[in-house]
Amino acid sequence: MGKTSKDKRDIYYRQAKENGYRARSAFKLLQIDKVFHIFDGVSRVVDLCAAPGSWSQVLSKRLYENNCISMSENNLDKDDVKIVAVDLQAMAPINAPICVKQLQGDITQLSVANEIIAYFDDKKAQLVVCDGAPDVTGLHDIDEYIQSQLLLAALNITTHILANGGKFVAKIFRGKDTSLLYSQMRVFFKKVSIAKPSSSRNSSIEAFVVCENYSPPDNYVPQMIDPNTTALDKNIVPFVVCGDLGNLDSDMSYSLISDGKYEYKEVLQKPISPAYKEILEKTKNLSLKHQNYLLKETH
Ligand code: SAM
Repeated sequence: MGKTSKDKRDIYYRQAKENGYRARSAFKLLQIDKVFHIFDGVSRVVDLCAAPGSWSQVLSKRLYENNCISMSENNLDKDDVKIVAVDLQAMAPINAPICVKQLQGDITQLSVANEIIAYFDDKKAQLVVCDGAPDVTGLHDIDEYIQSQLLLAALNITTHILANGGKFVAKIFRGKDTSLLYSQMRVFFKKVSIAKPSSSRNSSIEAFVVCENYSPPDNYVPQMIDPNTTALDKNIVPFVVCGDLGNLDSDMSYSLISDGKYEYKEVLQKPISPAYKEILEKTKNLSLKHQNYLLKETH
């Protein structure tokens, strides 16, 4: 879809153009950093769902600035600072000040996690950011649900690639399930906050989870399924069978009492307003043959 006149008037849209950013979202990450200092002490970062690349541009610039002093003091090279950007879409290259390694792929794939770790020379990231958004349908409940699934996919790959103590920042749609998502993040991170940068429109339900101090549960083994399934499986609810083998089996058929004295009893409480009430009304004065005929017709 082309830019609307509203986008053109937007101050962050104009500032993004003036500052050479590919999208206005750059300011969201910069404003989150102002409060949470997410880039401090970080030299390995992953940008999930990165295209067209404004967050990667911010990462390249800010990691260069932040690491400049330590580079000269510790004889570090620019190549020791590493940024990986992943997206389904191709993205124009970012080569300076820090080169961004691009992986065109799906964040739900284990192979993507492995490629990231390989690029980091088998080290893990200290920060993972994700501005992922599925194509919106315009149906709020569905959009919210799909966004939450993308966020869980981002959390999942993060459990493969983030070092203990690391940070995770990701887009969330504030809806009915926000508390549940918050609890799911809390399983893995000591501190979780929800941030709304001023560059994110007030009219949008978009916000960002800022998760600090990655500390997965003991013995947690990352897998490419919902991370909470594996993290929480030690809390399986006990399943208790009641009764013994001598009791009647509810899946079996038993014959009626065979002494011929079987007497039919009506059910104690019939449904007050059964779905078949209308057809009973219609057929009550008909013969059994006609009732059966009508029932067959209505099915
Ligand atoms: N942060 C970016 C920037 O500043 O330029 C903007 C990201 S854009 C809002 C959302 C991106 O999520 C799209 O480019 C889309 O291709 C990507 N995306 C959605 N689902 C994805 C998935 N499963 N794997 C990788 N990328 C995905």
